Amino acid sequence: MDPTFSSDIEAVRDLVIRFMQTEVVPVMDDYEKRAEFPRELVAKAGAAGLYGAVFPESVGGSNMGYLAAAVIQEEMGRLDVRFAACNNQQGSTCPSCIYLGGTAEQVERYVPNLLAGKTIGMMSLTEPGGGSDPEGNMKTFAKRDGDVYRISGQKMWASMANQTDVGVLLAKTDRNAGAKGVTAFIVKPKQFPGWNAQPVPMLGLSKSMRTNVLFLDDFVVPVEDRLGEEGEGFKIVMRALQPGRVTIAAKALGVARACFEEAVRYANEREMRGQPIGRYQMIQSDIAEMACAIEASRALVYKVAQIMDMGGPSNRMAAIAKYHASQTAKMCADKATQIFGGYGLAEEYRISWLRAYADLFFTGEGTANVQKMVIAEDALGYKVADRHHGKTGLREIRQKEAV
Ligand SMILES: Cc1cc2nc3c(=O)[nH]c(=O)nc-3n(C[C@H](O)[C@H](O)[C@H](O)COP(=O)(O)OP(=O)(O)OC[C@H]3O[C@@H](n4cnc5c(N)ncnc54)[C@H](O)[C@@H]3O)c2cc1C
Repeated sequence: MDPTFSSDIEAVRDLVIRFMQTEVVPVMDDYEKRAEFPRELVAKAGAAGLYGAVFPESVGGSNMGYLAAAVIQEEMGRLDVRFAACNNQQGSTCPSCIYLGGTAEQVERYVPNLLAGKTIGMMSLTEPGGGSDPEGNMKTFAKRDGDVYRISGQKMWASMANQTDVGVLLAKTDRNAGAKGVTAFIVKPKQFPGWNAQPVPMLGLSKSMRTNVLFLDDFVVPVEDRLGEEGEGFKIVMRALQPGRVTIAAKALGVARACFEEAVRYANEREMRGQPIGRYQMIQSDIAEMACAIEASRALVYKVAQIMDMGGPSNRMAAIAKYHASQTAKMCADKATQIFGGYGLAEEYRISWLRAYADLFFTGEGTANVQKMVIAEDALGYKVADRHHGKTGLREIRQKEAV
């Protein structure tokens, strides 16, 4: 409960907490044990409106905005971050690419079903050559062949690519045109041949919602499923990733809060020399440092979400918020693990896998170093972080008339 928020935002917080506590928390461990993708739960989350906060009602969103989206991600990240692993695919990068770059017909056909959790999405940009320079390292090539493209190459870390019904994939259509040689495609792996997604075994991350190495061998995409024109793909995906950074920051904040709650509970329960370990000053020092960092991250995440809701320049602030929140998550995971002693490493305690998510959010969707580059180059006057503000020429996700 935040006394500075409107009752609408607090109602969203109540809704997501209730949803997670009744629908997800009681069954998620079972899905994990079976390594089964929780398709029914994703559909329920979609029906509850958890994926559509930044999209207009005309495409099935709730039009509540980025602050609401941040609160949803924060609480999902706090209550079971494993289930939040597909949030970006359902409610951010994948539908955002389609919404930003697609024709009215493509938007109408694909976005509502993704937001409703009826179809499973994905967005594949990264390749084995390195995610921090995705365009420079992109080798996957889409060759036009009459009414279709045939795409060949290898993608890395393609989350949900083993489950997806409708996704977005980036490939070169011109090897010599730099970022302007990248094109975005709507992909439907269940309908066309040439798609082979292999889940990557990951330490501590969800076994139900997987990230994949993706092999493409003349994978077919009809020309009508191209997003925008040839060469517009990089612009579309960069624009879609920016709000994604805020939602990752919010999820990292949720993980930090989960670590803090676990640490507080355990410090009160665990007795040493006749009193709870929380009574010892060194444990109190850790608890205090966690609380301070969480409040600072929280203020940053909410601030950038509010700037985005006002349509203001947010790239620099999003980098700061993402960097800070992911640092906070790592610090809280580390301190909480220490407070748990040996039990912090045992699989049955969730602190052991929360740590893996803290590491993931430090790296995913722009590593900590990449965020620091954005922040420092702006401060030093080398590259203004918000130089593209209002200039992408793409449709805005929250349309003014719909607000
Ligand atoms: C579980 C998981 C899920 C993912 N899901 C998706 C997905 O669905 N879709 C997708 O497209 N991608 C996805 N990713 C990819 C993710 O965004 C990348 O891992 C990330 O962008 C980093 O790329 P990389 O791992 O290749 O590291 P690299 O780019 O190889 O970086 C390695 C190290 O070098 C540092 N570095 C790089 N360049 C510089 C520089 N100029 N200065 C200083 N340091 C630098 C980085 O900070 C990092 O520490 C996922 C990754 C993971 C782990």
